[in-house]
Amino acid sequence: MAYSILKCPVCGTEYNIDRYNYLCDKCGNILDVIQKDINEFKKTDYKGVWKYKNIIHPGLEQKFLITKMEGDTNVYHHTRMSEYSGVKDVYMKHEGENPTGSFKDRGMTVAISEAMRLGFKKTLCASTGNTSAAAASYSAYAGIESYVFIPSKKISKNKLMQAYSYGANIVNIDGDFDTAMTNLKNTLKQRNDFYVLNSINPWRVEGQKTIIYEIMERMKPDFISFPAGNLGNTSAFGKALMEMKEMGTIDYIPRLIAVQAEGASPFYNYINNHEDVLHTVKAETIASAIKIGNPVNYIKAKRSIEFTKGIVERVSDDEIIQAKKVIDRSGIGCEPASAASLAGIKKLRDRGIIDKSDKIAGILTGNLLKDMNTDIEINMLSLEQIK
Ligand SMILES: *Cc1c(COP(=O)(O)O)cnc(C)c1O
Repeated sequence: MAYSILKCPVCGTEYNIDRYNYLCDKCGNILDVIQKDINEFKKTDYKGVWKYKNIIHPGLEQKFLITKMEGDTNVYHHTRMSEYSGVKDVYMKHEGENPTGSFKDRGMTVAISEAMRLGFKKTLCASTGNTSAAAASYSAYAGIESYVFIPSKKISKNKLMQAYSYGANIVNIDGDFDTAMTNLKNTLKQRNDFYVLNSINPWRVEGQKTIIYEIMERMKPDFISFPAGNLGNTSAFGKALMEMKEMGTIDYIPRLIAVQAEGASPFYNYINNHEDVLHTVKAETIASAIKIGNPVNYIKAKRSIEFTKGIVERVSDDEIIQAKKVIDRSGIGCEPASAASLAGIKKLRDRGIIDKSDKIAGILTGNLLKDMNTDIEINMLSLEQIK
């Protein structure tokens, strides 16, 4: 029995999951994993992501499963964050606590397990940093080779160091993330021995749905705010809620807030200006993890925004830096892109869209130690200055 199939969200063409090309033959759009049997929200004895195996990859045999116990991340509340945002009930879920320091691990455990099921020996991804760190780690853990396309002059050294240390073959791309992605698509057209680990891989999206399961079990937020770059999370979060609604697991739909950086906000324009097609931009922001001008998942992401009556907001680099300072000084800490979630909450509160009595879940997508590029001058004390 087939537990899952692949289906094009645009033209509806269906495919067997043994296919490893995730673009539709007919219209070129990115396929969805469709779970054939989602009548029941049944949990397993696994920990973290795979607790929800029943609704992310029910047919996967145990022998293919590659996991580092990702997921089950903590949620933090702090008066500094409440005061800054103007919302008392603001709770930040820290995805930086995952094994390689970002939420990418949740999708990677599912995608790499699928690579094992399909018998691949090599993986490939284009990355602003965190995907390559996760891809390199999980490939090494599974005992297969990884190749990462990286705009190496533009990404955080910490993330590059992770990919290097885990033993990835690092391919230097002269250009930005969008150039790396174009190169990846061209490579995939020419070769069939690479398994793709970017979020064009719909199994990544299945793993990332588990962030929503954990949030909906733990609290009942009115809004869920998160940074948005390539729109994998935006796609995953909406899909999770659509399926939970279908199963009858939830009785209301929280509204998604996808927050883009001003200098990389093509999805913001697409949604808020009601454009027919997404117009790509040349991305520029200090938040390198969301510095993406041509997001691959915008069609699925639009579906998520529509289903949840969601909001797409944008924030300046200054606002991101301010929010990051608040999160860091609360003792929680995150990388720059992650802080866009709190900056977006503040902005929507200031604009009166979020009420001060609303309950908000924010996602901190990456760890504080991920990005040491931001220039800092540390004011150190001498021994005499101790008070
Ligand atoms: C990948 C990443 C993002 C962007 O997520 P998308 O799903 O591509 O929109 C945001 N923050 C961090 C830290 C990331 O690594």
